[in-house]
Amino acid sequence: MSRPITAIIKTSSLESNLDIIRSHAPNKKIWSVVKANAYGHRLYAVWKGLKKTDGFALLNLHEAIFLRKNGWKGAILLLEGFFNPKELAIIAYYNLTITIHSKWQIQAIKRATLKFPLNIYVKFNSGMNRFGFNEKIILNVLEELNSLKQISTLALMTHFSDSNNIEKIKEQMKKINNVIQYFPCTQCYANSSAILWHPKTHGTWIRPGIILYGASPNGNWKDISRNGFQPVMTLQSKLIAIQKISAQEYIGYKGTYKTEKKRRIGIIACGYADGYPRNAPTGTPVWIHNTKSRILGKVCMDTITIDLQHCPYAKIGSNVELWGKNIKVDEIATLSGTLSYELLSKLSQKIKMKIQ
Ligand SMILES: *Cc1c(COP(=O)(O)O)cnc(C)c1O
Repeated sequence: MSRPITAIIKTSSLESNLDIIRSHAPNKKIWSVVKANAYGHRLYAVWKGLKKTDGFALLNLHEAIFLRKNGWKGAILLLEGFFNPKELAIIAYYNLTITIHSKWQIQAIKRATLKFPLNIYVKFNSGMNRFGFNEKIILNVLEELNSLKQISTLALMTHFSDSNNIEKIKEQMKKINNVIQYFPCTQCYANSSAILWHPKTHGTWIRPGIILYGASPNGNWKDISRNGFQPVMTLQSKLIAIQKISAQEYIGYKGTYKTEKKRRIGIIACGYADGYPRNAPTGTPVWIHNTKSRILGKVCMDTITIDLQHCPYAKIGSNVELWGKNIKVDEIATLSGTLSYELLSKLSQKIKMKIQ
């Protein structure tokens, strides 16, 4: 048998999460954000569950081509646009929409001779200060692009720097409305938390990422479970060893956990090389035989040690859920000082996926 760590991708959860998003933004079009290999879930494993979306947003040309070759005829958005002017012909051929965020990209488009005109999202830097044209030049950029024969459609796009903060959102929306007033066009601003909690940001197209996968934009699982979102991924493995340890023994590297009494412990085939966070402290929950158990000592490269005190049925080969329906990935992220975004997207590419 091969090493038992597996990620199960539940297609019905993708479908129902997408339905919930639609109910929050009726009449809006949806870019399902599948960058970072679908937040670690793998593009090939999720896109069919998201077929009712209006478009897919991603970063790499080869992923866009993968979708086209598999028959996806809807919209595709390259979130960082193109990296090299040579890509423009391919982008036009596959009818992809691209973000334009820098002047060199405009120059490249002007110089290009294309068989089909381009669909462009112009990135407005409204306060994130990462990509885009600022409020002083955005209108000129829009007018300039609007006059080019290489371009067929134009939209205004921005990204919120703190979409859990209403004041920050209001500041950015004010700048946006100043632009739209003079240049009315297709609008696309809202990521997951703006979609759920700031309906005024919805524009024409929305861009959900993390909530598609049933995890929370702010680390607080209850905020999204209230809305019915379901985790898409279950990361599971098995117990591959069991030890009986006497009292006053130390467990694992550096002996950070000392047994106060006799203890039965289990070793799981999952570690930080698989993408489980090395920072997860003693006490971090895992799910085994329908109960919560907890990690003891340090997470190792390929293993985690857990307490079997309250798991009399646990034996070698028992299934363990690291995160999924019973143990939320948000909970593990919070305990490890990070966000579900990082844990999911850093899941090791070597892990087997099972589409359910
Ligand atoms: C990642 C990303 C999103 C999705 O953000 P979530 O918080 O996961 O919903 C939307 N827009 C852009 C530009 C992004 O890079």
